[in-house]
Amino acid sequence: MIEETGKIPQATAKRLPLYHRYLKYLHESGKERVSSAELSEAVKVDSATIRRDFSYFGALGKKGYGYNVSYILDFFSKTLSQDKQTNVAIIGVGNLGTALLHYNFMKNNNIKIVAAFDVDANKVGTVQQNIPIYHLNDMQDLLKENKVEVVILTVPSDEAQTTVDRLLEADVKGILNFTPARISVPKHVRVHHIDLTTELQTLIYFLENYPNK
Ligand code: ATP
Repeated sequence: MIEETGKIPQATAKRLPLYHRYLKYLHESGKERVSSAELSEAVKVDSATIRRDFSYFGALGKKGYGYNVSYILDFFSKTLSQDKQTNVAIIGVGNLGTALLHYNFMKNNNIKIVAAFDVDANKVGTVQQNIPIYHLNDMQDLLKENKVEVVILTVPSDEAQTTVDRLLEADVKGILNFTPARISVPKHVRVHHIDLTTELQTLIYFLENYPNK
């Protein structure tokens, strides 16, 4: 989760998790410095953009030295809220919801799936991966109780908007929408949309139409 990042432009903020993952890998393999060219090759962002991005958090690379990995990681851990746990809930435990329930978000970040919600009587009341599945009717109370402000939405598309309306009543601030439905939310709520089918179709389209690029 990217916290309020002050002066950092949104485009830069979006690239932070990308940089973070690679810098963490470098740190774990004992590397203390990295050049923007090296980073550029690894994360596929051009080095001028990397230098500009890094200048926002006061990391000015030195010629012949590059960037200090620990310094940047320290900045990231604060900016990306790595130092505090973010509780997340999954709404809709179908095929995709179940897969995400089993995904270990804690591996790299302090993100914890604390609860899941569904309407299917066969699923409600069960526990998967230590995560309890509750009925949707209990969602509002339980989200507040567990301080959940971020949810992953994996309900059927035609249920998306009504479910979101209920989420808004529970003061949810961020929704990762895996349904193909476009959902309406007030300005203070952020929705990020991941439509796997469209992504795959786009990839196939590009392969077919721009085979050499
Ligand atoms: P499955 O094979 O388990 O049905 P699926 O991903 O193909 O998986 P969907 O029809 O997309 O199934 O439903 C996803 C899940 O969302 C199901 O577990 C379903 O019970 C649940 N669900 C349906 N409506 C709601 C709702 N309003 N709120 C929460 N969960 C819901």
